[in-house]
Formats: sequence, C-alpha cells, structure tokens
Amino acid sequence: MSDTSPKNTPLPPGSTIGILGGGQLGRMLAVAATQLGFHVHIFSDTPGPAFEVAQSHTVAPYEDEAAIAAFARSVDVVTYEFENIPRATAEAAMAHAPLHPSLKALETSQDRIVEKAFLSGLGIPVAPYAVVTRHTKKSINYDVPGAQPKYPALLKTARFGYDGKGQVRVESEDDLTDAHTQIGLVPSVLEERIAFAREISIIAVGDVDGNVNSYDLAENVHENQILKTSMIPANVPDNLMPMAHVMAERIVRALDYVGTLAVEFFHCPDHPEGPLLVNEIAPRVHNSGHWTLDACLCSQFENHIRAIVGWPLGSTRRHSDALMTNLLGDEITTWADIAADTSSAFHVYGKGEARSARKMGHMTRLSPLTRE
Ligand code: AMP
Repeated sequence: MSDTSPKNTPLPPGSTIGILGGGQLGRMLAVAATQLGFHVHIFSDTPGPAFEVAQSHTVAPYEDEAAIAAFARSVDVVTYEFENIPRATAEAAMAHAPLHPSLKALETSQDRIVEKAFLSGLGIPVAPYAVVTRHTKKSINYDVPGAQPKYPALLKTARFGYDGKGQVRVESEDDLTDAHTQIGLVPSVLEERIAFAREISIIAVGDVDGNVNSYDLAENVHENQILKTSMIPANVPDNLMPMAHVMAERIVRALDYVGTLAVEFFHCPDHPEGPLLVNEIAPRVHNSGHWTLDACLCSQFENHIRAIVGWPLGSTRRHSDALMTNLLGDEITTWADIAADTSSAFHVYGKGEARSARKMGHMTRLSPLTRE
C-alpha cells in the first residue's frame, strides 16, 4: 500500500468512495458517505437504488476488468455491498485503489466450505457439518471435518446461496442423493438442522488500527428464510453479548478486516456445541443492522465509511430499543399508513417493481431504552 492509503492517512471530506454494487445497501452507504462530505461512485452491472443518491455511476459487467480499473483509478478507496464479487474483479480494483474489506474477507465468505473451516480453525463453533464433494449416480462422497452431521439436515450449496436460496432439507441419508441432484450436484455442505431458541446477529466494525466495536445483539425472525424483523435488545442472557463480541473480534482480526461485518448466530443453549453457533458471516453492512440508522448515534453505514477512510469509529451505543421490520414485495403499498406512524422511521429503497419477497424498504419502531 502506498503511504497515501487510508491505513496511514485518513481521507479528507471531498475524497471519493467507490462502491461495487448498486442495491439498497449501496444506497444507504452512499447516503452515509455523502453526510460526511464524500463523493460516491457506484459500479454495478445494472442501474439500481444506489444510483439515485450517488454523484457518479458506471454500468458494466463485474468481469469487465478495464471498466473496473477505470472505476478504481477515479476513486480514493473501493468497498462493496455484496460478497459475490469475482476474485479477478477485486484484484483489478486493488491494483488502483485500496480495497476494504480485505480480499481475504471476500474469499472466506463466498464459499461455505472455506468459511466453516476458517471459523472452526479460530475455535468458533458452527453447526456440525460435512462437505459434500462428489456425487455419481450410485454414490455420494462426503468428507466429515468435524462430527458426523445429524439428521434432519440442510444441504447448502457452497457458493452463491443467500436468503435460503441453494438450500434443501434432507430428512435422512436416503434423501441425500436426490437433494444433491436438486441443487445441481455442486460442492455443498450438509449441515445439521439446528433446533435453535432464536436467531441473533452482531454487527461489528473494525478500523485501520485494529479497534473493533460492536452494536447490541439483534434477535432476528426469518419468514421463508428471508429476514422479516430484528428486535433490539435480543431476549438473551447478558453473557451472550460479550461472547458474540469476542467471536466477531476474532474474525475481524483474522481477516485483517476494515469496515462493518455481520455475524449471524443460532442461539441454542441446549446444543452440545452451544450456546452460540455461527451460521454465517457477511463481509458488509447487513439487513439485521438497519436498526442502527435510527437507534444509534452512528449507524453501521456511517461506521463502515468511517473505517474505510481511516477515520475514528463512531459510537455504537444504542439510545433506544428498536423493532425493524422489512417491507417485502407489495407490503410497501401500505406506505401511507407507515408514513403516518410517528414512532417509526421509514426507509424506502426506490425500487421499481414490488416483486414478491423483494426488499422494498423497512421501518424501525423506536421505544425508550429498557436495558443497556
Ligand atoms: P442462510 O442462507 O444459511 O443464512 O439460511 C437462511 C435461514 O435458513 C437462516 O437464517 C435460518 O433461519 C435457516 N437455516 C439455515 N441453516 C440452518 C440450520 N443449520 N438449522 C436450522 N435453520 C437453518
């Protein structure tokens, strides 16, 4: 890195932040960056919600390395709003500008097999799993890195799965071949289906000096494997917050991570590996951290921007309790009622078509702090 990189010198307001990805996360990052006086350049393969709030845009395929290079040359730092960025794209950007979070963070979170091995290597518990490598008409081969997975299980594709896509339920070993065929015979993990008490997540942020701060735990409810609500504080014993923070900190340090990171957990007090098992990590701002926009002095978006430009981190303290609700598909048609709710903050992503289950916006109801 050159000595003008944000590792050494904080970028001043007026600098330009490049964001790979033009969705709602890019939009909220761009708003936070603009608030701090930065310019924003969005790179995306299709115009999206972030374009409306950024000064510059490039529309080109992520594989177009010349376009990526030109984009990276025109900005002072590059970041991203989604993790499925091809390695070559990240490298083409890094040749011209610092990239945060690190390439290692991208590569670790892109592949469930790599991610689980990484977490296990750090001593962080994950749901017991096997790696499904090869499958012929007659047999299925799998390696068992830890304990033999128990059924019922879930078979998840190693790559390109999100919001429950690329996952099938497997009731017993007899179903495995069919299940693997169903997800296209690609490398996968076979994971014990956890009878969790609840799902929780922590949003952490790491700065260039190695400091790591975390927001309070969110308790998340998924519907059809898509996040529906996040409630803060989570209804969990007090010792879980420091436990989750230590795990997030270990992940941040091991990945040389600068920026906001989400860690999703299953809270399962009765599981032999519990009480916290990591489901997955996301090397980016995260839907379960949207509540920080309205219930904290400094949101996950602002803290991400502060981190990648080498500024001190902002406060992660919560000043209110919060209930964030995602508005999916045509739920956004109730916008007039939501707008009339004076105890909620309303965020609309400006997407055109309200396709079923598409994240169109969210609302966060605030209430007085019940416990720190
Ligand atoms: P994922 O795409 O891995 O985050 O999965 C989406 C959702 O599916 C999670 O938030 C859980 O609600 C559910 N899920 C995923 N893995 C498991 C598991 N091993 N046991 C139980 N539920 C799971």
